[in-house]
Amino acid sequence: MTLLMLCCCALSFSAGTTRRRGSCRGGLWLRQNQTSTSGHTEVGRCFLVFTFTAADTIYLKFSLLFFLLVWVSEIMLQQTQVATVIDYYNKWMKRWPTVQDLAAATLEEVNQMWAGLGYYSRGKRLHEGAQKVVSELRGQMPRTVNSLLKQLPGVGRYTAGAIGSIALGQVTGAVDGNLIRVLCRLRAIGADSTSPAVTEALWSLANTLVDPERPGDFNQAMMELGARVCTPKGPLCSQCPVQSHCHSHRKVHVKQEANSRKLLGKLDKKPSVLPDIEDCMNSGTCPLCPSEPWDDELGVQNFPRKPAKKPPRVERTLTCVVIRAGEEGEDEYLLTQRLNKGLLAGMWEFPSLLQEEKSSEMKQKKALCAEISKKLGTRLTDSLLQHVGEVVHIFSHIHQTYVVHSVRLKDGDSQTQTENAQWLSKSALQGAAVSTGVKKVFILFTQSVCVCVCVCVCVCVCAHAPCCVTEVSCTCRSGLDYHSQKADFSIASVVNYSEFPVCDITGLH
Ligand code: SF4
Ligand SMILES: [Zn+2]
Repeated sequence: MTLLMLCCCALSFSAGTTRRRGSCRGGLWLRQNQTSTSGHTEVGRCFLVFTFTAADTIYLKFSLLFFLLVWVSEIMLQQTQVATVIDYYNKWMKRWPTVQDLAAATLEEVNQMWAGLGYYSRGKRLHEGAQKVVSELRGQMPRTVNSLLKQLPGVGRYTAGAIGSIALGQVTGAVDGNLIRVLCRLRAIGADSTSPAVTEALWSLANTLVDPERPGDFNQAMMELGARVCTPKGPLCSQCPVQSHCHSHRKVHVKQEANSRKLLGKLDKKPSVLPDIEDCMNSGTCPLCPSEPWDDELGVQNFPRKPAKKPPRVERTLTCVVIRAGEEGEDEYLLTQRLNKGLLAGMWEFPSLLQEEKSSEMKQKKALCAEISKKLGTRLTDSLLQHVGEVVHIFSHIHQTYVVHSVRLKDGDSQTQTENAQWLSKSALQGAAVSTGVKKVFILFTQSVCVCVCVCVCVCVCAHAPCCVTEVSCTCRSGLDYHSQKADFSIASVVNYSEFPVCDITGLH
């Protein structure tokens, strides 16, 4: 099997069958009535059919390579959609097919490969993890969930559970966003789903429910259930294979029944035998009971309940596109490297300065000029800086506005430079380890140049404007045809997960 085929095949297994973000390739949910082979009495039995070749699974499951494939895919998929990850993943695995290859790479190469994928510390941690495996663990991957947590940087509780169950066959749950939603609805857990009490309850439930025979498949099936059926909005309860176990679905029915009886004036003539959420044995003190009133219109979407979102931090950053004429006659741009820790660690950007609240823009401009001058070993005055415009970029927790300026250097002003600065041509800049925010700044700058030319020369050169813009923006993933990556799978594997024992704390959840 060629490396590429192996990568594609494995990707389809780990990102296709596993994936909870609406990605399952050819997987089917089926529902049948039949008696449990394990002797449990059941009303319904639920099946998830995965389709992947048994040969692929056997080969991959017992190799270190499989571990690496799952590790990389799990890290890349943190906070990121499958469709976005696939292209990055294929390129990454092609370039660094073994943990030794990854360990031998430089952080600069890793950042370059990760550019555009966001949450940049993930790439750095993967790299650190690979180096640790090679240098400290003598090439051996950790073999338990606990050692995954302790030994691999960037691996938290969920990722350890996912890698442990999928790659190592460890009997453990893996609670991600999908699982939180599914379990909160199944158990009608109405308290804040991010509270420590609920988090512990969900992990304990996931660890109880997981199929000891096929923990990895079970966890993937639950994630897939969350991605395809029990979706955040418009869940498909009528097609749900675990509907008969679902407390929130039952609650909706109880409410609807009560409402229709009320309409018909039959209230209390025939009380429902189904328990209501308020029937929790410890109602009033139960840490899992709803903290807010029930909204009839939302139905099962009342769960999970979330805390009020913290507004993102608002920041303004002064940034300057510094241009010089390169040796080939092509313009070159000055990029400086960020510190090796914190947000966008080690990434490249145009010289920038976070705007302090109390400082005036003029002062900030002077300070930015001083920074640039230091990098270039020359003196730059702020009056040379041209205002270009503003670009907004939203990070998960920061609402960032870049106030963009530009300056063109005269020959001789740009000869010296410090270690953490480099001159890049437009094409080199597009392939460099720069963030999406920096690309947006560059698009704004190139657009402004086109407009300038248009206005100054007084001829319509607008036809050229799209070129300079699209060359940059074509690095976006929107055109990615995820479906074309699908491999051919034939053999069905069946996962049974029918036993949802009632929690012994409250008798309800
Ligand atoms: S019945 Fe509806 S709410 Fe309950 S688990 Fe299924 S899809 Fe989710
Ligand atoms: Zn309760």
